[in-house]
Amino acid sequence: MTQHHESHHESLYIDGRWAKPISTQRIEVISATTEEVIGSVPEASQADVDSAVAAARRAFDGGWSQTPPADRAAVINRFADAMEKRAERITRAVSMQNGMPLALSQQFEGGYGVALARYYAGLASGMKQEERRASPLGFDTLVRHDPIGVVGAIVPWNYPVVLALTKIAPALAAGCTLVIKPSPGTVLDSFILAECAAEAGLPAGVINWVPGGRELGAYLVSHPGITKVAFTGSTAAGRSIAQVCGSLLRPVSLELGGKSAAIILDDAQLDAVMQGLHFAALANNGQTCAACTRILAPKSRYQEVVDALAAMASSLVVGDPLDLATQVGPLASSEHRARVEGYIAKGKSEARVVAGGGRPKNHATRGWFVEPTIFADVDNNAAIAQQEIFGPVLAVIAYGDEDDAVKIANDSEFGLGGTVWSTDSERAIKLARRVATGTIGVNGYVIDLNAPFGGVKSSGLGREFGPEALAAYQQLKSIYLPGG
Ligand code: NAD
Repeated sequence: MTQHHESHHESLYIDGRWAKPISTQRIEVISATTEEVIGSVPEASQADVDSAVAAARRAFDGGWSQTPPADRAAVINRFADAMEKRAERITRAVSMQNGMPLALSQQFEGGYGVALARYYAGLASGMKQEERRASPLGFDTLVRHDPIGVVGAIVPWNYPVVLALTKIAPALAAGCTLVIKPSPGTVLDSFILAECAAEAGLPAGVINWVPGGRELGAYLVSHPGITKVAFTGSTAAGRSIAQVCGSLLRPVSLELGGKSAAIILDDAQLDAVMQGLHFAALANNGQTCAACTRILAPKSRYQEVVDALAAMASSLVVGDPLDLATQVGPLASSEHRARVEGYIAKGKSEARVVAGGGRPKNHATRGWFVEPTIFADVDNNAAIAQQEIFGPVLAVIAYGDEDDAVKIANDSEFGLGGTVWSTDSERAIKLARRVATGTIGVNGYVIDLNAPFGGVKSSGLGREFGPEALAAYQQLKSIYLPGG
């Protein structure tokens, strides 16, 4: 087994320096693979959050919000350079903590995070904060896109670096400052990002990190010094955050759970579909919000699809996430595995297991592994078809015609991702337009940096990625000039 190195920290990154924490509480980080302690960090207290928010406010008022966008872009690019230099440490830290296969971590937590920073640096460098508009009433108005203020950002454990960067990069580009609360399960990577902020020369207080659990997150969300909340996590937590933000009239973006459908049309080439579903349905051991975990198969080819999925799932290499050959690593925590196994047990009473269904024989005693599991003959009303499992567990559901496929796909509380698979891409696009979801892929699923990503229904509010995310960190102000 590849060695899982330890990493311990004594200070928190607040106000541009490594400061002694106020509390003596610590967070221990456990390897998903070895179940051993691989690091520990100070747990921030409410008083640390108060200092972080005050520092972010000073940084906002004291200059960052007024720094020319092109200068902000230069700083963001330096932050990207610092991340790129540390890509190996970042990607290994994530894989050790949450079980993400290293090849995926390199692609996302390494490459994609850097790409996001550079993308928003690009938008900042060409940004106009003020435009002069002619009014039909005969005068001009200046329309300003001002940075919204201090952002409270809350990040989950599944893609901790990318999901921090989907907030950091547009917020910095807009001229906002941030206080970020990482998930306790994946805090080690956030200390590397703080090193990057220091190396990039981000002014003091522009980004501050406060590691802690949900109570600390709730404290941050309702803090009087926060202007906007950016949250990624479960639908349950999102609802409670939305209530708080609603009562405070505080803008909030919510990226929540999903139960997306992969619609396989009757003309699809199953070899290509299986290759694509590898990623679209099972990426990060199924711990992916937009994963297509409901596979909709045409009745005319149902058995063929079930057989192909069972063969694909059984062929996946399960093992140490730090091994580049691994395709499926362990789940992120023992509690999470217990939850996933609870769904597998429930599924056995609702449907038929055609692959997996237990713990992998070679990894049954150490590490939070479960076998990639396929259920066939699933009714769309079954718990395993309606609830987010967040593990390598897929439900195959039969449909009649295309209308039936759309009806089943849309019969869900969620609407985040989705895919349509066909050799006729025009036919697939037509069908994709009818699926009630925030994003959907045709013959593959790749989240585009330059297009809005987010959910409908219980999958969330607001969008990340693209210029739309930058706009969510700005507020509009009109200066009327009726006197010329
Ligand atoms: P979670 O909701 O338990 O926790 C997410 C983060 O929010 C953590 O940092 C946690 O400490 C904090 N938190 C929890 N309750 C809070 C509260 N009431 N107030 C403030 N902060 C709170 O989710 P998780 O288990 O870490 O992540 C998995 C979930 O995230 C899944 O449901 C997944 O679908 C979702 N997710 C969504 C997206 C997306 O872009 N839509 C992306 C990744 C993950």
